[in-house]
Amino acid sequence: MWADTKLLDVRVFDDATKKSVYATQTAKAEKKGESNCPLCALGHDANKSKLWKLIEMDADHVTAWSKGGETNIKNCQMLCKTHNRAKGNR
Ligand SMILES: [Zn+2]
Repeated sequence: MWADTKLLDVRVFDDATKKSVYATQTAKAEKKGESNCPLCALGHDANKSKLWKLIEMDADHVTAWSKGGETNIKNCQMLCKTHNRAKGNR
Protein backbone atom coordinates (compact mmCIF):
# COMPACT_ATOMS: atom_id res chain seq x y z
CA MET A 1 0.00 0.00 0.00
CA TRP A 2 2.66 2.49 1.11
CA ALA A 3 4.94 1.49 -1.77
CA ASP A 4 2.13 2.06 -4.28
CA THR A 5 1.59 5.57 -2.99
CA LYS A 6 5.29 6.32 -3.35
CA LEU A 7 5.29 5.14 -6.96
CA LEU A 8 2.36 7.36 -7.85
CA ASP A 9 4.15 10.35 -6.38
CA VAL A 10 7.42 9.70 -8.14
CA ARG A 11 7.04 12.69 -10.49
CA VAL A 12 6.72 15.11 -7.60
CA PHE A 13 9.69 16.34 -5.56
CA ASP A 14 9.11 16.36 -1.82
CA ASP A 15 9.38 19.51 0.27
CA ALA A 16 12.71 18.56 1.83
CA THR A 17 14.28 18.20 -1.63
CA LYS A 18 12.81 21.51 -2.82
CA LYS A 19 14.02 23.38 0.27
CA SER A 20 17.50 21.92 -0.01
CA VAL A 21 17.85 22.70 -3.73
CA TYR A 22 16.41 26.17 -3.16
CA ALA A 23 18.93 26.91 -0.41
CA THR A 24 21.89 25.77 -2.53
CA GLN A 25 20.75 27.64 -5.64
CA THR A 26 19.99 30.82 -3.72
CA ALA A 27 23.34 30.85 -1.89
CA LYS A 28 25.20 30.49 -5.22
CA ALA A 29 23.04 33.11 -6.91
CA GLU A 30 23.59 35.60 -4.10
CA LYS A 31 27.35 35.24 -4.40
CA LYS A 32 27.23 35.83 -8.13
CA GLY A 33 24.67 38.63 -7.85
CA GLU A 34 22.28 36.95 -10.22
CA SER A 35 18.81 35.45 -10.06
CA ASN A 36 18.30 32.17 -8.24
CA CYS A 37 16.15 31.08 -11.20
CA PRO A 38 18.79 29.80 -13.68
CA LEU A 39 16.63 30.83 -16.62
CA CYS A 40 16.05 34.36 -15.30
CA ALA A 41 19.81 34.65 -14.73
CA LEU A 42 20.36 34.07 -18.47
CA GLY A 43 17.95 36.83 -19.40
CA HIS A 44 18.52 40.51 -19.95
CA ASP A 45 15.57 42.04 -18.14
CA ALA A 46 15.04 43.21 -14.56
CA ASN A 47 14.59 39.64 -13.32
CA LYS A 48 18.22 38.86 -14.19
CA SER A 49 19.25 39.54 -10.60
CA LYS A 50 15.95 38.82 -8.85
CA LEU A 51 16.04 36.50 -5.87
CA TRP A 52 12.75 34.64 -5.82
CA LYS A 53 11.21 33.33 -2.61
CA LEU A 54 10.70 29.62 -2.22
CA ILE A 55 6.93 30.01 -2.62
CA GLU A 56 7.48 31.88 -5.89
CA MET A 57 9.33 28.93 -7.40
CA ASP A 58 8.53 25.38 -8.49
CA ALA A 59 10.68 22.29 -8.71
CA ASP A 60 11.64 21.17 -12.20
CA HIS A 61 13.24 17.99 -13.55
CA VAL A 62 16.60 18.89 -15.17
CA THR A 63 16.19 15.83 -17.38
CA ALA A 64 12.48 15.58 -18.12
CA TRP A 65 10.64 12.86 -16.27
CA SER A 66 9.12 11.75 -19.57
CA LYS A 67 12.66 11.25 -20.91
CA GLY A 68 13.71 9.05 -18.03
CA GLY A 69 14.86 11.78 -15.65
CA GLU A 70 14.69 10.64 -12.05
CA THR A 71 12.84 12.37 -9.27
CA ASN A 72 15.75 12.93 -6.91
CA ILE A 73 17.82 15.81 -5.65
CA LYS A 74 20.43 15.47 -8.42
CA ASN A 75 17.82 15.97 -11.10
CA CYS A 76 16.00 18.81 -9.36
CA GLN A 77 16.29 22.52 -10.05
CA MET A 78 14.10 25.32 -8.83
CA LEU A 79 12.66 27.66 -11.46
CA CYS A 80 10.46 30.70 -10.97
CA LYS A 81 6.83 29.87 -11.63
CA THR A 82 6.83 31.74 -14.95
CA HIS A 83 9.72 29.73 -16.35
CA ASN A 84 8.50 26.48 -14.89
CA ARG A 85 5.17 27.03 -16.59
CA ALA A 86 6.86 28.04 -19.86
CA LYS A 87 8.81 24.80 -19.81
CA GLY A 88 5.59 22.89 -19.31
CA ASN A 89 5.38 19.14 -18.96
CA ARG A 90 7.58 18.24 -21.88
ZN1 LIG B 1 12.80 32.50 -14.14
